[in-house]
Amino acid sequence: MTMSALGEPCVLLKLGEIVLKGKNRELFERRLIANIRHALQTVGIQVDVRRRHGVVAIFLPQGATPEQADAVAQRVADVPGLVWIHRAWRVAKDPDAVLKAGLELAGESEEAKRGARFAVRSRRRDKRFPLRSNELDRLVGGAINDEYGLPVDLKNPELTVFIEVDRDEVFVFTGGIPGQGGLPVGSSGRALVLMSGGIDSPVAAYRMMRRGLHVDFLHFSGIPFTTSESIYKAYALVRKLDRFQGRSRLWVVPFGKAQQSIRSSGQDRLAVIAQRRLMLKTAEEVAHRIRAAALITGDALGQVSSQTLANITAQDNAVELPILRPLVGWDKTEIMAEARRIGTLEISELPDEDCCSLLAPKRAETRAKIEDLKLIEKRLDAEELCVQLADSIQEYTL
Ligand code: ATP
Ligand code: MG
Repeated sequence: MTMSALGEPCVLLKLGEIVLKGKNRELFERRLIANIRHALQTVGIQVDVRRRHGVVAIFLPQGATPEQADAVAQRVADVPGLVWIHRAWRVAKDPDAVLKAGLELAGESEEAKRGARFAVRSRRRDKRFPLRSNELDRLVGGAINDEYGLPVDLKNPELTVFIEVDRDEVFVFTGGIPGQGGLPVGSSGRALVLMSGGIDSPVAAYRMMRRGLHVDFLHFSGIPFTTSESIYKAYALVRKLDRFQGRSRLWVVPFGKAQQSIRSSGQDRLAVIAQRRLMLKTAEEVAHRIRAAALITGDALGQVSSQTLANITAQDNAVELPILRPLVGWDKTEIMAEARRIGTLEISELPDEDCCSLLAPKRAETRAKIEDLKLIEKRLDAEELCVQLADSIQEYTL
Protein backbone atom coordinates (compact mmCIF):
# COMPACT_ATOMS: atom_id res chain seq x y z
CA MET A 1 0.00 0.00 0.00
CA THR A 2 1.33 3.42 -0.91
CA MET A 3 1.30 6.10 1.73
CA SER A 4 -1.04 8.95 0.84
CA ALA A 5 -0.18 12.52 1.75
CA LEU A 6 -3.80 13.49 1.42
CA GLY A 7 -4.89 13.20 5.04
CA GLU A 8 -8.55 12.59 5.82
CA PRO A 9 -11.36 12.92 3.31
CA CYS A 10 -13.93 15.52 4.31
CA VAL A 11 -16.53 17.84 2.79
CA LEU A 12 -16.31 21.61 2.80
CA LEU A 13 -19.43 23.71 2.27
CA LYS A 14 -19.71 27.32 1.12
CA LEU A 15 -22.74 29.24 2.32
CA GLY A 16 -24.88 31.32 0.01
CA GLU A 17 -26.98 34.34 0.86
CA ILE A 18 -26.67 33.65 4.56
CA VAL A 19 -23.45 35.59 4.56
CA LEU A 20 -25.50 38.74 3.90
CA LYS A 21 -27.62 38.20 6.98
CA GLY A 22 -25.84 40.39 9.53
CA LYS A 23 -27.37 40.01 12.98
CA ASN A 24 -29.57 37.05 12.07
CA ARG A 25 -26.74 35.11 10.57
CA GLU A 26 -26.24 33.00 13.66
CA LEU A 27 -29.86 31.81 13.48
CA PHE A 28 -29.65 30.99 9.79
CA GLU A 29 -26.44 29.07 10.22
CA ARG A 30 -27.84 27.04 13.07
CA ARG A 31 -30.88 26.19 10.97
CA LEU A 32 -28.66 25.22 8.06
CA ILE A 33 -26.54 22.92 10.19
CA ALA A 34 -29.62 21.23 11.64
CA ASN A 35 -30.89 20.68 8.07
CA ILE A 36 -27.55 19.24 7.00
CA ARG A 37 -27.50 16.84 9.93
CA HIS A 38 -31.06 15.76 9.21
CA ALA A 39 -30.32 15.18 5.51
CA LEU A 40 -27.26 13.09 6.36
CA GLN A 41 -29.24 10.69 8.51
CA THR A 42 -30.24 8.92 5.29
CA VAL A 43 -26.60 8.35 4.31
CA GLY A 44 -25.93 6.30 7.41
CA ILE A 45 -22.43 7.56 8.16
CA GLN A 46 -21.64 9.12 11.52
CA VAL A 47 -20.45 12.63 10.69
CA ASP A 48 -19.27 15.62 12.60
CA VAL A 49 -20.65 18.89 11.22
CA ARG A 50 -18.65 21.91 12.34
CA ARG A 51 -19.09 25.58 11.81
CA ARG A 52 -15.91 27.37 10.80
CA HIS A 53 -15.39 30.99 9.97
CA GLY A 54 -17.74 31.51 7.00
CA VAL A 55 -17.80 27.83 5.95
CA VAL A 56 -19.11 24.53 7.24
CA ALA A 57 -16.89 21.46 7.41
CA ILE A 58 -18.14 17.89 7.58
CA PHE A 59 -15.68 15.45 9.09
CA LEU A 60 -16.05 11.72 8.63
CA PRO A 61 -15.03 9.06 11.13
CA GLN A 62 -11.47 7.74 11.18
CA GLY A 63 -10.83 5.38 8.30
CA ALA A 64 -13.74 6.67 6.19
CA THR A 65 -13.28 6.09 2.48
CA PRO A 66 -13.29 8.73 -0.28
CA GLU A 67 -16.45 7.03 -1.62
CA GLN A 68 -18.21 7.68 1.68
CA ALA A 69 -17.16 11.31 1.52
CA ASP A 70 -18.53 11.46 -2.05
CA ALA A 71 -21.87 10.11 -0.81
CA VAL A 72 -21.99 12.78 1.88
CA ALA A 73 -21.17 15.49 -0.68
CA GLN A 74 -23.89 14.24 -3.05
CA ARG A 75 -26.47 14.27 -0.31
CA VAL A 76 -25.75 17.77 0.99
CA ALA A 77 -25.81 19.11 -2.58
CA ASP A 78 -29.63 18.96 -2.21
CA VAL A 79 -29.77 21.07 0.94
CA PRO A 80 -30.80 24.69 0.21
CA GLY A 81 -28.53 27.42 1.57
CA LEU A 82 -25.25 26.15 0.11
CA VAL A 83 -23.58 27.43 -3.04
CA TRP A 84 -20.61 25.05 -3.29
CA ILE A 85 -19.84 21.59 -2.02
CA HIS A 86 -16.18 20.59 -2.12
CA ARG A 87 -14.86 17.11 -1.59
CA ALA A 88 -11.77 18.14 0.31
CA TRP A 89 -8.85 16.70 2.19
CA ARG A 90 -8.05 17.76 5.71
CA VAL A 91 -4.31 18.07 6.26
CA ALA A 92 -2.10 19.21 9.10
CA LYS A 93 -1.42 22.90 9.50
CA ASP A 94 2.08 22.76 8.22
CA PRO A 95 3.41 24.08 4.88
CA ASP A 96 5.17 20.82 4.11
CA ALA A 97 2.03 18.73 4.61
CA VAL A 98 0.07 21.16 2.43
CA LEU A 99 2.70 20.98 -0.29
CA LYS A 100 2.62 17.18 -0.35
CA ALA A 101 -1.17 17.06 -0.42
CA GLY A 102 -1.37 19.65 -3.20
CA LEU A 103 1.15 17.71 -5.26
CA GLU A 104 -0.63 14.42 -4.83
CA LEU A 105 -4.08 15.84 -5.55
CA ALA A 106 -2.89 17.56 -8.72
CA GLY A 107 -0.93 14.49 -9.79
CA GLU A 108 -3.85 12.10 -9.58
CA SER A 109 -6.33 14.39 -11.35
CA GLU A 110 -7.61 13.56 -14.84
CA GLU A 111 -6.59 17.06 -15.97
CA ALA A 112 -2.94 16.47 -15.09
CA LYS A 113 -2.88 13.33 -17.22
CA ARG A 114 -3.64 15.39 -20.29
CA GLY A 115 -1.19 18.16 -19.38
CA ALA A 116 -3.79 20.74 -18.40
CA ARG A 117 -3.05 24.36 -17.58
CA PHE A 118 -3.36 24.87 -13.85
CA ALA A 119 -3.48 27.38 -11.01
CA VAL A 120 -3.21 27.23 -7.23
CA ARG A 121 -5.50 29.44 -5.20
CA SER A 122 -4.83 29.78 -1.49
CA ARG A 123 -6.80 31.51 1.22
CA ARG A 124 -5.83 32.14 4.78
CA ARG A 125 -8.72 32.28 7.19
CA ASP A 126 -6.16 32.00 9.95
CA LYS A 127 -3.60 34.76 9.53
CA ARG A 128 -1.19 33.11 11.97
CA PHE A 129 -0.16 30.57 9.35
CA PRO A 130 3.52 31.20 8.52
CA LEU A 131 3.02 31.57 4.76
CA ARG A 132 0.86 34.21 3.14
CA SER A 133 -1.57 33.07 0.47
CA ASN A 134 0.56 34.22 -2.46
CA GLU A 135 3.58 32.50 -0.93
CA LEU A 136 1.57 29.28 -0.60
CA ASP A 137 0.41 29.62 -4.21
CA ARG A 138 4.00 29.91 -5.38
CA LEU A 139 5.29 27.10 -3.19
CA VAL A 140 2.68 24.55 -4.26
CA GLY A 141 2.37 25.83 -7.84
CA GLY A 142 6.12 25.72 -8.35
CA ALA A 143 6.27 22.14 -7.08
CA ILE A 144 3.43 20.98 -9.34
CA ASN A 145 5.10 22.65 -12.30
CA ASP A 146 8.47 20.99 -11.52
CA GLU A 147 7.05 17.58 -10.78
CA TYR A 148 4.53 17.15 -13.62
CA GLY A 149 5.59 19.86 -16.08
CA LEU A 150 2.08 21.35 -16.15
CA PRO A 151 1.85 24.94 -17.44
CA VAL A 152 0.59 27.62 -15.07
CA ASP A 153 -2.42 29.65 -16.20
CA LEU A 154 -3.79 32.02 -13.59
CA LYS A 155 -6.45 33.57 -15.82
CA ASN A 156 -8.15 30.56 -17.29
CA PRO A 157 -6.93 27.36 -15.63
CA GLU A 158 -8.35 23.94 -16.52
CA LEU A 159 -7.33 22.61 -13.13
CA THR A 160 -7.39 24.59 -9.90
CA VAL A 161 -5.92 23.40 -6.63
CA PHE A 162 -7.61 25.21 -3.76
CA ILE A 163 -5.89 25.59 -0.40
CA GLU A 164 -7.81 27.01 2.54
CA VAL A 165 -6.00 27.55 5.79
CA ASP A 166 -8.40 27.30 8.72
CA ARG A 167 -8.18 27.47 12.48
CA ASP A 168 -7.30 23.83 13.16
CA GLU A 169 -6.44 22.43 9.77
CA VAL A 170 -5.87 23.13 6.10
CA PHE A 171 -8.36 22.05 3.43
CA VAL A 172 -7.03 21.07 0.02
CA PHE A 173 -9.30 20.32 -2.93
CA THR A 174 -9.88 20.62 -6.67
CA GLY A 175 -13.28 21.44 -8.12
CA GLY A 176 -16.67 21.03 -6.45
CA ILE A 177 -20.37 20.59 -7.07
CA PRO A 178 -22.71 23.59 -7.19
CA GLY A 179 -25.27 23.65 -4.38
CA GLN A 180 -28.93 24.67 -4.54
CA GLY A 181 -28.29 28.24 -3.35
CA GLY A 182 -31.06 30.07 -1.54
CA LEU A 183 -31.80 29.99 2.18
CA PRO A 184 -32.04 27.15 4.71
CA VAL A 185 -35.45 25.50 4.70
CA GLY A 186 -37.47 26.66 7.70
CA SER A 187 -35.74 30.02 8.07
CA SER A 188 -38.68 31.81 6.41
CA GLY A 189 -41.47 29.87 8.14
CA ARG A 190 -44.07 27.40 6.88
CA ALA A 191 -46.41 27.37 3.90
CA LEU A 192 -48.88 25.08 2.15
CA VAL A 193 -48.45 24.16 -1.51
CA LEU A 194 -51.48 23.42 -3.66
CA MET A 195 -50.10 20.43 -5.42
CA SER A 196 -51.72 19.06 -8.57
CA GLY A 197 -50.09 16.21 -10.46
CA GLY A 198 -48.96 18.73 -13.08
CA ILE A 199 -45.61 20.19 -14.04
CA ASP A 200 -45.87 23.59 -12.44
CA SER A 201 -46.77 23.10 -8.79
CA PRO A 202 -43.77 20.87 -7.88
CA VAL A 203 -41.45 23.49 -9.37
CA ALA A 204 -43.26 26.22 -7.41
CA ALA A 205 -42.81 24.17 -4.24
CA TYR A 206 -39.10 23.76 -4.89
CA ARG A 207 -38.56 27.46 -5.57
CA MET A 208 -40.22 28.41 -2.28
CA MET A 209 -38.31 25.79 -0.28
CA ARG A 210 -35.22 27.46 -1.64
CA ARG A 211 -36.44 30.75 -0.21
CA GLY A 212 -36.48 29.19 3.23
CA LEU A 213 -40.06 27.92 3.54
CA HIS A 214 -40.80 24.50 4.91
CA VAL A 215 -43.83 23.33 2.95
CA ASP A 216 -46.70 20.91 3.39
CA PHE A 217 -48.49 19.64 0.28
CA LEU A 218 -52.25 19.69 -0.34
CA HIS A 219 -53.78 17.74 -3.20
CA PHE A 220 -57.41 17.78 -4.35
CA SER A 221 -58.48 14.49 -5.87
CA GLY A 222 -61.63 13.87 -7.88
CA ILE A 223 -62.50 10.93 -5.65
CA PRO A 224 -65.11 9.31 -5.66
CA PHE A 225 -65.52 10.14 -9.36
CA THR A 226 -61.91 9.50 -10.43
CA THR A 227 -59.39 6.79 -9.61
CA SER A 228 -56.62 7.29 -7.05
CA GLU A 229 -54.03 7.78 -9.78
CA SER A 230 -53.62 11.49 -9.15
CA ILE A 231 -52.92 10.78 -5.48
CA TYR A 232 -50.14 8.33 -6.37
CA LYS A 233 -48.68 10.95 -8.63
CA ALA A 234 -48.83 13.66 -6.00
CA TYR A 235 -47.25 11.24 -3.54
CA ALA A 236 -44.45 10.36 -5.96
CA LEU A 237 -43.80 14.05 -6.54
CA VAL A 238 -43.66 14.78 -2.83
CA ARG A 239 -41.21 11.93 -2.38
CA LYS A 240 -39.04 13.38 -5.10
CA LEU A 241 -39.10 16.82 -3.50
CA ASP A 242 -38.57 15.62 0.06
CA ARG A 243 -34.81 15.45 -0.37
CA PHE A 244 -34.70 19.26 -0.38
CA GLN A 245 -36.42 19.73 2.98
CA GLY A 246 -37.23 16.46 4.79
CA ARG A 247 -40.28 15.73 6.97
CA SER A 248 -42.71 16.32 4.10
CA ARG A 249 -46.43 15.70 4.52
CA LEU A 250 -49.04 15.25 1.83
CA TRP A 251 -52.68 16.06 2.62
CA VAL A 252 -55.38 14.84 0.27
CA VAL A 253 -58.89 16.27 -0.02
CA PRO A 254 -61.59 14.12 -1.67
CA PHE A 255 -63.01 16.87 -3.86
CA GLY A 256 -65.29 15.06 -6.33
CA LYS A 257 -68.60 15.78 -4.61
CA ALA A 258 -67.82 19.46 -4.11
CA GLN A 259 -66.98 19.71 -7.80
CA GLN A 260 -70.27 18.11 -8.65
CA SER A 261 -72.12 20.76 -6.66
CA ILE A 262 -70.22 23.49 -8.47
CA ARG A 263 -71.16 21.96 -11.79
CA SER A 264 -74.81 21.68 -10.88
CA SER A 265 -74.87 25.34 -9.89
CA GLY A 266 -75.21 25.92 -13.62
CA GLN A 267 -72.54 28.54 -14.21
CA ASP A 268 -70.55 26.61 -16.73
CA ARG A 269 -68.03 29.26 -17.72
CA LEU A 270 -67.29 30.19 -14.14
CA ALA A 271 -66.93 26.64 -12.89
CA VAL A 272 -63.13 26.44 -13.16
CA ILE A 273 -62.50 29.64 -11.30
CA ALA A 274 -65.22 28.91 -8.72
CA GLN A 275 -63.54 25.58 -8.10
CA ARG A 276 -60.16 27.23 -7.76
CA ARG A 277 -61.56 29.60 -5.15
CA LEU A 278 -63.05 26.70 -3.24
CA MET A 279 -59.67 24.95 -3.32
CA LEU A 280 -58.02 28.09 -1.97
CA LYS A 281 -60.60 28.54 0.79
CA THR A 282 -60.16 24.91 1.81
CA ALA A 283 -56.37 25.33 1.67
CA GLU A 284 -56.64 28.36 3.92
CA GLU A 285 -58.64 26.37 6.45
CA VAL A 286 -56.03 23.58 6.36
CA ALA A 287 -53.21 26.14 6.60
CA HIS A 288 -54.66 27.53 9.82
CA ARG A 289 -54.81 24.06 11.29
CA ILE A 290 -51.20 23.22 10.47
CA ARG A 291 -49.93 26.76 11.16
CA ALA A 292 -48.84 27.55 7.63
CA ALA A 293 -48.64 31.28 6.96
CA ALA A 294 -49.00 31.35 3.17
CA LEU A 295 -50.36 29.37 0.22
CA ILE A 296 -48.25 28.51 -2.82
CA THR A 297 -49.49 27.74 -6.33
CA GLY A 298 -47.87 27.02 -9.68
CA ASP A 299 -49.75 29.79 -11.52
CA ALA A 300 -47.92 31.55 -14.36
CA LEU A 301 -49.50 34.68 -15.77
CA GLY A 302 -51.52 33.94 -18.90
CA GLN A 303 -50.56 30.25 -19.14
CA VAL A 304 -54.16 29.02 -19.12
CA SER A 305 -57.52 30.78 -18.90
CA SER A 306 -57.66 30.47 -15.12
CA GLN A 307 -54.41 32.42 -14.87
CA THR A 308 -55.33 35.74 -16.48
CA LEU A 309 -54.81 38.84 -14.38
CA ALA A 310 -58.55 39.13 -13.70
CA ASN A 311 -58.76 35.51 -12.60
CA ILE A 312 -55.68 35.78 -10.43
CA THR A 313 -57.33 38.78 -8.79
CA ALA A 314 -60.47 36.71 -8.22
CA GLN A 315 -58.34 34.03 -6.57
CA ASP A 316 -56.53 36.45 -4.28
CA ASN A 317 -59.91 37.78 -3.25
CA ALA A 318 -61.06 34.35 -2.01
CA VAL A 319 -58.64 34.16 0.93
CA GLU A 320 -56.80 36.31 3.42
CA LEU A 321 -53.52 34.45 3.45
CA PRO A 322 -50.99 35.59 0.85
CA ILE A 323 -50.85 33.37 -2.25
CA LEU A 324 -47.24 33.02 -3.36
CA ARG A 325 -46.77 32.36 -7.08
CA PRO A 326 -43.05 31.95 -7.69
CA LEU A 327 -43.61 31.02 -11.35
CA VAL A 328 -45.79 33.98 -12.24
CA GLY A 329 -43.22 35.39 -14.67
CA TRP A 330 -41.92 32.10 -16.05
CA ASP A 331 -42.41 30.61 -19.54
CA LYS A 332 -43.56 27.02 -19.83
CA THR A 333 -40.21 26.02 -21.36
CA GLU A 334 -38.37 27.50 -18.39
CA ILE A 335 -40.64 25.69 -15.95
CA MET A 336 -40.11 22.42 -17.81
CA ALA A 337 -36.34 22.80 -17.79
CA GLU A 338 -36.39 23.36 -14.04
CA ALA A 339 -38.75 20.39 -13.54
CA ARG A 340 -36.30 18.22 -15.47
CA ARG A 341 -33.38 19.47 -13.40
CA ILE A 342 -35.06 18.71 -10.06
CA GLY A 343 -36.33 15.36 -11.30
CA THR A 344 -40.10 15.95 -11.18
CA LEU A 345 -40.82 16.25 -14.91
CA GLU A 346 -41.00 12.56 -15.70
CA ILE A 347 -43.46 11.98 -12.86
CA SER A 348 -45.59 14.98 -13.84
CA GLU A 349 -45.76 13.73 -17.42
CA LEU A 350 -47.29 10.39 -16.43
CA PRO A 351 -50.93 10.21 -17.48
CA ASP A 352 -53.55 10.72 -14.80
CA GLU A 353 -57.13 11.71 -14.33
CA ASP A 354 -56.84 15.10 -12.71
CA CYS A 355 -59.88 16.32 -10.85
CA CYS A 356 -59.86 19.44 -13.06
CA SER A 357 -60.73 17.38 -16.13
CA LEU A 358 -64.15 16.74 -14.57
CA LEU A 359 -64.93 20.37 -14.98
CA ALA A 360 -63.62 21.54 -18.31
CA PRO A 361 -66.17 23.85 -19.94
CA LYS A 362 -66.10 24.49 -23.69
CA ARG A 363 -65.24 28.12 -23.11
CA ALA A 364 -63.77 29.20 -19.79
CA GLU A 365 -64.28 32.71 -18.50
CA THR A 366 -61.11 34.76 -18.67
CA ARG A 367 -62.58 37.74 -16.82
CA ALA A 368 -64.49 36.31 -13.92
CA LYS A 369 -66.48 38.86 -11.91
CA ILE A 370 -66.06 38.52 -8.19
CA GLU A 371 -69.76 39.29 -7.48
CA ASP A 372 -70.81 36.40 -9.74
CA LEU A 373 -68.42 34.06 -7.96
CA LYS A 374 -69.68 35.17 -4.57
CA LEU A 375 -73.24 34.39 -5.65
CA ILE A 376 -72.26 30.85 -6.58
CA GLU A 377 -70.46 30.49 -3.27
CA LYS A 378 -73.51 31.70 -1.36
CA ARG A 379 -75.64 29.04 -3.00
CA LEU A 380 -73.03 26.39 -2.23
CA ASP A 381 -72.51 27.64 1.32
CA ALA A 382 -68.80 27.66 0.52
CA GLU A 383 -67.74 28.83 3.98
CA GLU A 384 -69.25 25.73 5.56
CA LEU A 385 -68.22 23.46 2.70
CA CYS A 386 -64.54 24.30 3.00
CA VAL A 387 -64.59 23.46 6.71
CA GLN A 388 -66.16 20.09 5.89
CA LEU A 389 -63.60 19.50 3.18
CA ALA A 390 -60.78 20.34 5.59
CA ASP A 391 -62.32 17.89 8.08
CA SER A 392 -62.17 15.14 5.47
CA ILE A 393 -58.48 15.42 4.62
CA GLN A 394 -56.24 12.39 4.79
CA GLU A 395 -52.59 12.61 5.72
CA TYR A 396 -49.82 10.73 3.95
CA THR A 397 -46.47 10.86 5.71
CA LEU A 398 -43.30 9.82 3.94
P1 ATP B 1 -49.89 22.41 -12.66
O1 ATP B 1 -48.93 22.03 -13.74
O2 ATP B 1 -49.20 22.79 -11.39
O3 ATP B 1 -50.98 21.40 -12.49
P2 ATP B 1 -51.48 23.85 -14.47
O4 ATP B 1 -50.71 24.48 -15.53
O5 ATP B 1 -52.18 22.56 -14.74
O6 ATP B 1 -50.58 23.73 -13.17
P3 ATP B 1 -53.93 24.86 -13.34
O7 ATP B 1 -54.60 23.57 -13.53
O8 ATP B 1 -54.64 26.11 -13.72
O9 ATP B 1 -52.52 24.97 -14.03
O10 ATP B 1 -53.56 24.97 -11.82
C1 ATP B 1 -52.94 26.13 -11.30
C2 ATP B 1 -52.49 25.84 -9.89
O11 ATP B 1 -53.61 25.47 -9.08
C3 ATP B 1 -51.57 24.64 -9.81
O12 ATP B 1 -50.23 25.00 -10.08
C4 ATP B 1 -51.76 24.19 -8.38
O13 ATP B 1 -51.02 25.00 -7.49
C5 ATP B 1 -53.25 24.44 -8.17
N1 ATP B 1 -54.00 23.21 -8.47
C6 ATP B 1 -54.63 22.86 -9.60
N2 ATP B 1 -55.22 21.66 -9.50
C7 ATP B 1 -54.94 21.20 -8.27
C8 ATP B 1 -55.25 19.99 -7.54
N3 ATP B 1 -55.94 19.00 -8.08
N4 ATP B 1 -54.81 19.90 -6.27
C9 ATP B 1 -54.10 20.89 -5.70
N5 ATP B 1 -53.77 22.02 -6.33
C10 ATP B 1 -54.18 22.18 -7.59
MG1 MG C 1 -52.97 21.19 -13.35
